[in-house]
Amino acid sequence: MKKSRKSGYRRRTVRNRAALLAAGCAVVAALSGLLLLGISQKPAPAMAAPAASAASAQQAESQAAPPAGSEAAGENAGTADDWALRLVDKDHLLPADFAPDVVEAGNSYKHVEFDRRAAGALEELLDACNAEGYELMVCSGYRTIAYQEGLFEKQVRKQENLGLSGEEAVAAAATVVEVPGGSEHNLGLAVDFGTPDNQLVDESFDDEPESAWLKANAWKYGFILRYPQGAEDVTGITYEPWHYRYVGLAAAKEIYDRQLTLEEYLGE
Ligand code: ZN
Repeated sequence: MKKSRKSGYRRRTVRNRAALLAAGCAVVAALSGLLLLGISQKPAPAMAAPAASAASAQQAESQAAPPAGSEAAGENAGTADDWALRLVDKDHLLPADFAPDVVEAGNSYKHVEFDRRAAGALEELLDACNAEGYELMVCSGYRTIAYQEGLFEKQVRKQENLGLSGEEAVAAAATVVEVPGGSEHNLGLAVDFGTPDNQLVDESFDDEPESAWLKANAWKYGFILRYPQGAEDVTGITYEPWHYRYVGLAAAKEIYDRQLTLEEYLGE
Protein backbone atom coordinates (compact mmCIF):
# COMPACT_ATOMS: atom_id res chain seq x y z
CA MET A 1 0.00 0.00 0.00
CA LYS A 2 2.26 2.75 -1.20
CA LYS A 3 -0.25 4.56 -3.34
CA SER A 4 -0.46 8.29 -2.84
CA ARG A 5 -3.87 9.78 -3.08
CA LYS A 6 -5.30 13.13 -2.16
CA SER A 7 -7.15 13.17 1.11
CA GLY A 8 -10.43 14.42 -0.34
CA TYR A 9 -10.54 11.74 -3.00
CA ARG A 10 -9.85 9.04 -0.48
CA ARG A 11 -12.47 10.34 1.90
CA ARG A 12 -15.09 10.36 -0.80
CA THR A 13 -14.13 6.86 -1.82
CA VAL A 14 -14.65 5.64 1.69
CA ARG A 15 -18.03 7.32 1.93
CA ASN A 16 -19.12 5.99 -1.48
CA ARG A 17 -18.09 2.51 -0.51
CA ALA A 18 -19.94 2.88 2.75
CA ALA A 19 -22.99 4.17 0.92
CA LEU A 20 -22.97 1.19 -1.44
CA LEU A 21 -22.70 -1.16 1.48
CA ALA A 22 -25.55 0.60 3.19
CA ALA A 23 -27.71 0.37 0.07
CA GLY A 24 -26.87 -3.30 -0.38
CA CYS A 25 -27.70 -4.06 3.20
CA ALA A 26 -30.68 -1.74 3.55
CA VAL A 27 -32.34 -3.83 6.20
CA VAL A 28 -29.23 -4.09 8.33
CA ALA A 29 -28.47 -0.42 7.95
CA ALA A 30 -31.99 0.64 8.82
CA LEU A 31 -31.94 -1.59 11.86
CA SER A 32 -28.58 -0.20 12.95
CA GLY A 33 -29.93 3.31 12.46
CA LEU A 34 -32.87 2.61 14.72
CA LEU A 35 -30.62 1.08 17.31
CA LEU A 36 -28.33 4.08 17.22
CA LEU A 37 -31.23 6.41 17.92
CA GLY A 38 -31.17 5.47 21.54
CA ILE A 39 -31.04 1.79 22.26
CA SER A 40 -27.56 0.58 23.03
CA GLN A 41 -26.21 -1.69 20.36
CA LYS A 42 -24.83 -5.13 20.96
CA PRO A 43 -21.18 -5.51 20.01
CA ALA A 44 -21.30 -6.13 16.29
CA PRO A 45 -19.29 -8.92 14.66
CA ALA A 46 -16.54 -7.68 12.38
CA MET A 47 -18.49 -8.43 9.20
CA ALA A 48 -21.39 -6.21 10.23
CA ALA A 49 -19.26 -3.22 11.15
CA PRO A 50 -19.27 -1.42 7.76
CA ALA A 51 -23.07 -1.30 7.66
CA ALA A 52 -23.24 0.08 11.17
CA SER A 53 -20.54 2.61 10.27
CA ALA A 54 -22.51 3.82 7.28
CA ALA A 55 -25.64 4.28 9.30
CA SER A 56 -23.86 6.29 11.96
CA ALA A 57 -21.58 8.25 9.63
CA GLN A 58 -23.62 11.42 9.67
CA GLN A 59 -24.56 11.52 13.31
CA ALA A 60 -21.22 10.43 14.73
CA GLU A 61 -19.43 13.61 13.73
CA SER A 62 -21.88 15.84 15.55
CA GLN A 63 -22.02 13.75 18.68
CA ALA A 64 -19.79 14.47 21.62
CA ALA A 65 -20.32 11.01 23.10
CA PRO A 66 -18.76 8.01 21.40
CA PRO A 67 -21.15 6.06 19.17
CA ALA A 68 -22.77 3.10 20.84
CA GLY A 69 -21.54 -0.35 20.09
CA SER A 70 -17.79 -0.19 19.95
CA GLU A 71 -17.07 -0.22 23.65
CA ALA A 72 -20.38 -0.65 25.38
CA ALA A 73 -19.00 -3.50 27.46
CA GLY A 74 -15.47 -2.11 27.80
CA GLU A 75 -13.84 -1.87 31.17
CA ASN A 76 -13.40 1.86 30.65
CA ALA A 77 -17.02 2.54 29.80
CA GLY A 78 -17.94 5.64 31.74
CA THR A 79 -17.27 9.24 30.83
CA ALA A 80 -17.11 10.39 27.23
CA ASP A 81 -13.31 10.37 27.04
CA ASP A 82 -12.65 7.00 28.65
CA TRP A 83 -12.68 5.18 25.33
CA ALA A 84 -9.44 6.96 24.48
CA LEU A 85 -7.74 5.72 27.65
CA ARG A 86 -8.37 2.02 27.23
CA LEU A 87 -5.32 -0.02 28.14
CA VAL A 88 -4.52 -2.82 25.69
CA ASP A 89 -1.64 -5.25 26.16
CA LYS A 90 -1.10 -8.97 26.64
CA ASP A 91 -2.78 -8.76 30.05
CA HIS A 92 -5.63 -6.54 28.83
CA LEU A 93 -6.91 -8.26 25.71
CA LEU A 94 -9.68 -6.90 23.55
CA PRO A 95 -12.61 -9.28 23.02
CA ALA A 96 -12.40 -11.32 19.81
CA ASP A 97 -15.42 -9.52 18.33
CA PHE A 98 -14.07 -6.02 19.07
CA ALA A 99 -14.77 -3.91 16.00
CA PRO A 100 -14.09 -0.17 16.32
CA ASP A 101 -15.77 2.31 13.98
CA VAL A 102 -12.86 3.19 11.70
CA VAL A 103 -12.38 5.55 8.77
CA GLU A 104 -9.41 6.13 6.51
CA ALA A 105 -7.04 8.85 7.69
CA GLY A 106 -3.68 10.15 6.57
CA ASN A 107 -2.30 12.51 3.96
CA SER A 108 -1.18 12.41 0.34
CA TYR A 109 1.57 9.89 1.18
CA LYS A 110 -0.65 7.18 2.60
CA HIS A 111 -3.90 6.46 4.42
CA VAL A 112 -4.61 3.88 7.09
CA GLU A 113 -7.73 2.98 9.02
CA PHE A 114 -8.16 4.76 12.35
CA ASP A 115 -10.89 5.18 14.97
CA ARG A 116 -13.41 7.65 13.59
CA ARG A 117 -13.36 9.72 16.80
CA ALA A 118 -9.59 10.34 16.60
CA ALA A 119 -9.05 10.40 12.81
CA GLY A 120 -9.46 14.19 12.64
CA ALA A 121 -6.81 14.70 15.32
CA LEU A 122 -4.41 12.43 13.42
CA GLU A 123 -4.84 14.44 10.22
CA GLU A 124 -4.42 17.73 12.11
CA LEU A 125 -1.14 16.44 13.52
CA LEU A 126 0.11 15.38 10.08
CA ASP A 127 -0.90 18.71 8.53
CA ALA A 128 0.68 20.77 11.32
CA CYS A 129 3.95 18.86 11.09
CA ASN A 130 4.24 19.01 7.31
CA ALA A 131 3.23 22.68 7.24
CA GLU A 132 6.58 23.24 8.96
CA GLY A 133 8.43 21.54 6.12
CA TYR A 134 8.57 17.95 7.37
CA GLU A 135 7.44 14.82 5.54
CA LEU A 136 5.55 12.85 8.11
CA MET A 137 3.32 9.98 7.01
CA VAL A 138 1.35 7.12 8.52
CA CYS A 139 2.65 3.59 7.92
CA SER A 140 0.22 1.50 9.95
CA GLY A 141 -2.99 2.12 11.86
CA TYR A 142 -5.89 -0.15 12.73
CA ARG A 143 -5.40 -3.89 12.27
CA THR A 144 -8.20 -6.40 12.74
CA ILE A 145 -7.93 -9.07 15.40
CA ALA A 146 -8.61 -11.64 12.65
CA TYR A 147 -5.49 -10.43 10.83
CA GLN A 148 -3.55 -10.71 14.09
CA GLU A 149 -4.92 -14.24 14.59
CA GLY A 150 -3.68 -15.20 11.15
CA LEU A 151 -0.20 -13.91 11.97
CA PHE A 152 -0.25 -15.71 15.30
CA GLU A 153 -1.47 -19.04 13.90
CA LYS A 154 1.21 -18.93 11.25
CA GLN A 155 3.83 -18.44 13.96
CA VAL A 156 2.43 -21.34 16.04
CA ARG A 157 2.66 -23.66 12.99
CA LYS A 158 6.22 -22.49 12.47
CA GLN A 159 7.13 -23.29 16.08
CA GLU A 160 5.48 -26.71 15.75
CA ASN A 161 7.53 -27.40 12.65
CA LEU A 162 10.61 -26.55 14.71
CA GLY A 163 9.69 -29.36 17.08
CA LEU A 164 7.65 -27.67 19.81
CA SER A 165 4.23 -29.03 20.70
CA GLY A 166 0.91 -27.59 21.89
CA GLU A 167 1.32 -25.02 24.65
CA GLU A 168 5.05 -24.73 24.06
CA ALA A 169 4.47 -23.67 20.47
CA VAL A 170 1.84 -21.12 21.53
CA ALA A 171 4.12 -19.68 24.23
CA ALA A 172 7.01 -19.42 21.81
CA ALA A 173 4.80 -17.74 19.21
CA ALA A 174 3.72 -15.14 21.78
CA THR A 175 7.31 -13.98 22.18
CA VAL A 176 7.50 -13.20 18.46
CA VAL A 177 4.02 -12.02 17.49
CA GLU A 178 1.60 -10.01 19.62
CA VAL A 179 -1.29 -12.05 20.97
CA PRO A 180 -4.54 -11.43 19.02
CA GLY A 181 -6.43 -8.64 20.80
CA GLY A 182 -3.32 -7.58 22.69
CA SER A 183 -2.04 -5.00 20.22
CA GLU A 184 -2.98 -1.32 20.43
CA HIS A 185 -3.34 -1.51 16.67
CA ASN A 186 -6.36 -3.77 17.25
CA LEU A 187 -7.89 -0.89 19.23
CA GLY A 188 -7.79 1.55 16.32
CA LEU A 189 -6.03 4.31 18.29
CA ALA A 190 -2.38 3.49 17.56
CA VAL A 191 -0.37 4.70 14.61
CA ASP A 192 3.10 3.90 13.32
CA PHE A 193 4.76 6.90 11.68
CA GLY A 194 7.39 7.11 8.99
CA THR A 195 8.54 9.29 6.12
CA PRO A 196 8.40 8.63 2.36
CA ASP A 197 12.10 7.72 2.55
CA ASN A 198 11.88 5.70 5.74
CA GLN A 199 8.96 3.34 6.09
CA LEU A 200 10.94 0.70 7.96
CA VAL A 201 9.00 1.20 11.20
CA ASP A 202 12.08 0.56 13.28
CA GLU A 203 14.61 2.40 15.48
CA SER A 204 16.01 4.27 12.48
CA PHE A 205 12.92 6.51 12.59
CA ASP A 206 14.46 8.12 15.66
CA ASP A 207 17.15 9.65 13.42
CA GLU A 208 14.54 11.42 11.30
CA PRO A 209 13.75 15.06 12.18
CA GLU A 210 10.06 14.07 12.15
CA SER A 211 10.67 11.98 15.27
CA ALA A 212 11.96 15.00 17.19
CA TRP A 213 8.95 17.03 16.03
CA LEU A 214 6.57 14.33 17.25
CA LYS A 215 8.22 14.11 20.65
CA ALA A 216 7.80 17.86 21.12
CA ASN A 217 4.39 18.36 19.54
CA ALA A 218 2.27 15.20 19.32
CA TRP A 219 0.66 15.88 22.71
CA LYS A 220 -0.95 19.04 21.31
CA TYR A 221 -3.11 16.77 19.15
CA GLY A 222 -3.88 14.21 21.86
CA PHE A 223 -1.11 11.72 21.01
CA ILE A 224 1.65 10.26 23.18
CA LEU A 225 4.87 8.39 22.51
CA ARG A 226 3.49 5.14 23.87
CA TYR A 227 6.64 3.11 24.56
CA PRO A 228 9.32 5.60 25.66
CA GLN A 229 12.98 4.81 26.14
CA GLY A 230 13.71 3.64 29.68
CA ALA A 231 10.10 2.68 30.41
CA GLU A 232 10.37 -0.94 29.30
CA ASP A 233 9.78 -2.18 32.85
CA VAL A 234 6.47 -0.32 32.98
CA THR A 235 5.14 -0.86 29.47
CA GLY A 236 6.61 -4.30 28.87
CA ILE A 237 7.58 -3.12 25.38
CA THR A 238 10.98 -1.94 24.19
CA TYR A 239 11.43 1.61 22.91
CA GLU A 240 9.32 2.27 19.80
CA PRO A 241 9.97 5.82 18.53
CA TRP A 242 7.52 5.27 15.64
CA HIS A 243 4.49 4.13 17.66
CA TYR A 244 2.08 6.80 18.92
CA ARG A 245 -1.23 6.38 20.70
CA TYR A 246 -4.23 8.68 20.81
CA VAL A 247 -5.35 9.28 24.42
CA GLY A 248 -7.20 12.61 24.11
CA LEU A 249 -5.99 16.15 24.71
CA ALA A 250 -6.14 16.35 28.51
CA ALA A 251 -4.42 13.02 29.13
CA ALA A 252 -1.79 13.66 26.47
CA LYS A 253 -0.90 17.02 28.03
CA GLU A 254 -0.54 15.58 31.52
CA ILE A 255 1.40 12.54 30.30
CA TYR A 256 3.73 14.85 28.37
CA ASP A 257 4.14 17.41 31.16
CA ARG A 258 4.86 14.80 33.83
CA GLN A 259 6.77 12.43 31.53
CA LEU A 260 4.52 9.48 32.37
CA THR A 261 3.55 6.30 30.57
CA LEU A 262 -0.11 5.46 29.97
CA GLU A 263 0.18 2.74 32.63
CA GLU A 264 1.39 5.27 35.21
CA TYR A 265 -1.27 7.79 34.22
CA LEU A 266 -3.95 5.13 34.70
CA GLY A 267 -2.40 3.99 37.98
CA GLU A 268 -1.73 0.50 36.68
ZN1 ZN B 1 2.78 0.26 16.34
